[in-house]
Amino acid sequence: MDNYTKVLLDESEIPTQWYNVVPDLPTPPPPPLHPGTREPIGPDDLAPLFPMALIMQEVSEESYIDIPGEVLDVYRLWRPSPLFRARRLEAALDTPAKIFYKYEGVSPAGSHKPNTSVPQAYYNHQEGITKLTTETGAGQWGSALAFACAQYGIECEVWQVAASYEVKPHRKTMMEIWGASVHSSPSDVTEFGRSLLADDPQHPGSLGIAISEAVSMAVEDPTTRYALGSVLNHVLLHQTVIGEEALLQLAKVGETPDVLVGCTGGGSNFGGLSFPFLREKLKGKMNPTIRCVEPAACPSLTKGEYRYDFGDTAGMTPLVKMHTLGHSFIPDPIHAGGLRYHGMAPLVSHLYETGLVEAESIGQTECFTAALEFARTEGIVPAPEPTHAIAAAVREALRCKESGEEKVILTALCGHGHLDLAAYENFLSGEMVDHELSQASLDTAMAAVPVFD
Ligand SMILES: *Cc1c(COP(=O)(O)O)cnc(C)c1O
Repeated sequence: MDNYTKVLLDESEIPTQWYNVVPDLPTPPPPPLHPGTREPIGPDDLAPLFPMALIMQEVSEESYIDIPGEVLDVYRLWRPSPLFRARRLEAALDTPAKIFYKYEGVSPAGSHKPNTSVPQAYYNHQEGITKLTTETGAGQWGSALAFACAQYGIECEVWQVAASYEVKPHRKTMMEIWGASVHSSPSDVTEFGRSLLADDPQHPGSLGIAISEAVSMAVEDPTTRYALGSVLNHVLLHQTVIGEEALLQLAKVGETPDVLVGCTGGGSNFGGLSFPFLREKLKGKMNPTIRCVEPAACPSLTKGEYRYDFGDTAGMTPLVKMHTLGHSFIPDPIHAGGLRYHGMAPLVSHLYETGLVEAESIGQTECFTAALEFARTEGIVPAPEPTHAIAAAVREALRCKESGEEKVILTALCGHGHLDLAAYENFLSGEMVDHELSQASLDTAMAAVPVFD
């Protein structure tokens, strides 16, 4: 088993439980607050938005939560996902490091997002909900939820950020193939959307705005709920199937990681990959460095402030303590649409604050340079988001080349880029530019965050 390229698991080895990292943490993350009373919210406050099963997972103190059989049945369409050893990339980099990537692009929607969209649709269906609303930036989450809703026969209505709606028409088509209806956001179907369009008919939209629109439609209708594709504890929980499988796969080839790197938009693929390894680290069984990688244009961990802020632009969601660039922040239009969110998962923010994980930011031209080298050696065309993870893995591998260290590097290739070829065209034609976040735009957005703590 020395010259393997990929490590596969048997269908019977799909994890049957999700791992909740919260009980294992040295200190608990601060609770979400009610936007009106500023007191910690209770399950009832979230009931207009989410089904009770997901709310209970959101606040759970159990270490493990059983994955329902009906969810496992759908997971089996693409799980277990393969773990690859990037031997051809290693050779091209001339590094003594071993690079492993867990490939989540094998799901129907082409990313890790169905790991959570499927249980979310399932629990809503179980509780009699007939329709889910959501937002989508790059279109990945919208397609994942559309696919999941189709599995359980519920409706799906998606607000796609206007800028992405324009440049990613095929994502909209995918959502429609799976039966969803799709609006460009800001849209004329919500009051908030209409008010923004009145000011600027060409408004490019943002994830925060699209969340406000989707939330407002859900709270109006008792048979409709809202679904979020990242950031929340229950989303990160569902994604831990990635890390649990990767742990097993590395064990099969006798490896333990020295460095884990993952791209972070809201933190779900990163949390999903890293939490099971963090558990092992906290138990003293291994000691990997765990690092978040974010875009230089939207660096919520490395440049944002750790404080209570809204999850959406209109200020309708609970207040969560997270690294934030300010809920009114609209990032530059980098190609990694899935990483253009103003905040970071409270759990990942808390881990960063407590020093259990590190973070770095990388500009998009370095990311696409690394992605091209990856595609030309490993074959897979990465989605723009994981190009950040690949660039970070390449940085680490090149450091190993300097030092001669034979580190084991693990990352998640959390989606393929088949519907993102416009980004590659932009790069190949030499037109791609790096957007550094200016202090002025950061100051403006942070000034709009009320002081809660
Ligand atoms: C949505 C998405 C991301 C960003 O979300 P996380 O919650 O940070 O994982 C990253 N990569 C891909 C492929 C995505 O679809």
